[in-house]
Amino acid sequence: MPFPYEAPVSQTLFDRAGVVTPGGVNSPVRAFRAVGGTPRFMVSGAGPYLTDADGREYVDLVCSWGPMILGHSHPEVIAAVQAAVARGTSFGTPGEGEVELAEEIVARIDPVEQVRLVSSGTEATMSAIRLARGFTGRAKVIKFAGCYHGHVDALLAAAGSGVATFGLPDTPGVTGAQAGETVVLPYNDLDAVRAAFAAHPGEIACVITEASPGNMGVVPPLPGFNAGLKELCASNGALFVSDEVMTGFRVSKAGWYGIDGVRPDLMTFGKVMGGGFPAAAFGGRADVMAHLAPAGPVYQAGTLSGNPVATAAGVAQLRLLDDAAYGRVDAVSREVRGLVSQALDKAGVAHRLQVAGNMFSVFFTDADAVVDYAGAKAQQAYRFTAFFHSMLAQGVYLPPSAFESWFVSTAHDERAIERIAAALPGAAQAAAEATE
Ligand code: PLP
Repeated sequence: MPFPYEAPVSQTLFDRAGVVTPGGVNSPVRAFRAVGGTPRFMVSGAGPYLTDADGREYVDLVCSWGPMILGHSHPEVIAAVQAAVARGTSFGTPGEGEVELAEEIVARIDPVEQVRLVSSGTEATMSAIRLARGFTGRAKVIKFAGCYHGHVDALLAAAGSGVATFGLPDTPGVTGAQAGETVVLPYNDLDAVRAAFAAHPGEIACVITEASPGNMGVVPPLPGFNAGLKELCASNGALFVSDEVMTGFRVSKAGWYGIDGVRPDLMTFGKVMGGGFPAAAFGGRADVMAHLAPAGPVYQAGTLSGNPVATAAGVAQLRLLDDAAYGRVDAVSREVRGLVSQALDKAGVAHRLQVAGNMFSVFFTDADAVVDYAGAKAQQAYRFTAFFHSMLAQGVYLPPSAFESWFVSTAHDERAIERIAAALPGAAQAAAEATE
């Protein structure tokens, strides 16, 4: 499709990047492959806005894929970071910032009795799986099609199979052996989980699920699904691992747990808790966490784990996230959702807007509900492409894929929302006129 305008400086940077970096990016979805066109190289962020290398400003509805819940360059977070940097950037020793961040997490999320800090969500889920295997002495892991848990080898056996069977590697480089212990099931299907436990008695170490999935678009758990998983895990001697890397500290003070109250054995976190820096964590039952080195035999480590600058940013951000802040993010989310639906309705575009707390995404479908990955993939993604480029041309930055959550922040004020509102009719029309 023709792209409404060019971004020459970004294009030059992308060309340079392509010489020295595979595909020109350091994380694939940034490359705009799903929607086409030139990825925007951003140079600064302030509140709800990003500015690209061509000097264009965008209302940001990606928020760094979730972390920037207070908007960009929040003065108190920046001040905490500057103070931390002035004291030194890494010591390779324990530090008070790590204790403070761990205390914040434990105080907010009741099932987390102990927590270990790491540097990325991938590390958190990888370590949680290892710990679950070490604790139970079992090998197999159940995951759900369409749930993303980072690029952990065993968890890339995944998306798309949609049947209760051993996963096949989704990517070259993941061996059959690594993927072979992963059982991939359709999301929101408790019968499939029941059948998998029956087929592999005493072999399943854990079930890992996104607390409320946002990586196939927003597909919340059906009522009773997470509780059912918890119950099946408990009755079969497996651990229930809830991945809250995306939802944690975003959809409520206590993440998705704060909304559905189902108590996991282990949980994983990232994104918001790092305040825009690489900080992530896994934690849960103290008796399980006690198996982790140096307290126990399951090894896990990290040179930059609990980095003092990252923990300072995380602590500052979490301390600002009180009930009023979540109320504000929820209100912004409601308003933007309303505007999106209104514009698409007016343009006659079949769609379904799905919501999980303040996370949401639009499926271009006439289905009543999207409950799993097969449903998510059945949408008319080409309509999203047209919608995306129209919004981008009008200065609104959406996730460059139809299969991602949109994120808002406390900083999205009336001016930013007005700019979104002004862009929507044109984008809805573009979606209406799009052809495959
Ligand atoms: N788990 C979930 C639910 C995620 O959304 C992500 C990243 O988007 C990850 C894990 C991996 O986190 P990271 O990209 O920090 O490795």
